[in-house]
Amino acid sequence: MNLDVNTLFLVTIYVEAILGLLLLFAWVQNTAIYAVAWWGFADLLRAASIMLFGMYGTVSDLISIDLANAVLFTAFALTWTGARVFDHRRPLPILLFGGAALWLVLCHVPSIAASWDIRVLLSSGIITAYTWATAYEFWRGRSEPLVSRWPAIFMLFAHGSLYLLRTPLGAMLPWTPDGNKVFQSVWLTVLSFEALLFTISIAFILLAMAKERTEYRHRTAALIDPLTGIANRRAFLQDGEVQLRRQTTDPRPIAVMLLDLDNFKSINDRFGHAIGDRVLQLFANVAGNCIRRADLFGRLGGEEFAAMLVDATRERAMAIAEDIRHSFAEATHEVEGRPVVATVSIGIVISYDAVLDISALLAQADHALYRAKDNGRNRIEIASIELILDRAKRGVPEALGMPKTAARSAA
Ligand code: GH3
Ligand code: MG
Ligand code: MG
Repeated sequence: MNLDVNTLFLVTIYVEAILGLLLLFAWVQNTAIYAVAWWGFADLLRAASIMLFGMYGTVSDLISIDLANAVLFTAFALTWTGARVFDHRRPLPILLFGGAALWLVLCHVPSIAASWDIRVLLSSGIITAYTWATAYEFWRGRSEPLVSRWPAIFMLFAHGSLYLLRTPLGAMLPWTPDGNKVFQSVWLTVLSFEALLFTISIAFILLAMAKERTEYRHRTAALIDPLTGIANRRAFLQDGEVQLRRQTTDPRPIAVMLLDLDNFKSINDRFGHAIGDRVLQLFANVAGNCIRRADLFGRLGGEEFAAMLVDATRERAMAIAEDIRHSFAEATHEVEGRPVVATVSIGIVISYDAVLDISALLAQADHALYRAKDNGRNRIEIASIELILDRAKRGVPEALGMPKTAARSAA
């Protein structure tokens, strides 16, 4: 394949500029993700650097080589800074301009200025460092489950590696016979072509990442309780329903627990709302640790939580509830230096087969919770499913009816 370097340069300038504008346009539409603007400016700067390279021969080498490279390195540094900003890390101004500064200083050291190979090695090293650093920033943020993170890491790593191999591979590829190493080499064609493809792919991957981040945020905002970081009512009911439906084909005991903090209003009154919030977070943390990962746990609202334990016999459910009750009282002996001592009451119902839906099970757990509150709080009560089914069969409306705590709060 023969590719004319000058054509490639023109195409690359055009593509970089268009991608830069595209990214900036995308950022204007959703200014929440600043990284997209950094990446847009990076592409515009890359277009500018290639323009400067293209002036080779018509202007001094200081502009078409030294300055062009410095601008190119800064473009890679902008992409790297964008990756930091994307994962909420600060830009590092010294390193942002460090590559360009290092290059401009070293270019004027006579031994380096005289050696083409050392200069190629230096410029490749700087680009590889920024590109790998970008891949590393994305890798550091991998706890945020964005699928597009992985192709971005792979592409950046591969692109950086190719630059690093430029000198050893360059020695194996033939230079053109006229000896004009700068513009006619096969290598330059290969690299320019790869850079063009990389630029196009990475711009789209970065855009995809920003879009995926926005969608992920919307999804989690709709399903996660912001104070405690656990599932909210909607998520708990949705997942609970799915879990219960599985019971029709795979009958296993499922325990549903309703957990309500005791006298929480008085905790707020005595210690203030901020301590109250802290107690809610502590509870979510403590109870979450007592429950297996496969089980469901959510905040239904206020100081009321629910859990669904799959494959839980009566004994296991009681043991877990006891663990939560005990650990929570222990954890709140002192909260931010204040002697809070909070407790929780728990109502449990066990479903052996898919007879009741999630709201009916929660209503039953609520009856048990009501008993726990009535019997003095800081205790666990379990609803008897036989009794519930018997009542339901006899058509007693309360069997599947209105939760008692609702009636209690209304009273
Ligand atoms: P009981 O033992 O009968 O459950 O009494 P209680 O005081 O816990 O129950 P009640 O329903 O009377 O009061 C619940 C309190 O929870 C009232 C409300 O101000 C407080 N609350 C609800 N949501 C939050 C929250 O997000 N943060 C804080 N700090 N308090 C909250
Ligand atoms: Mg309460
Ligand atoms: Mg309550």
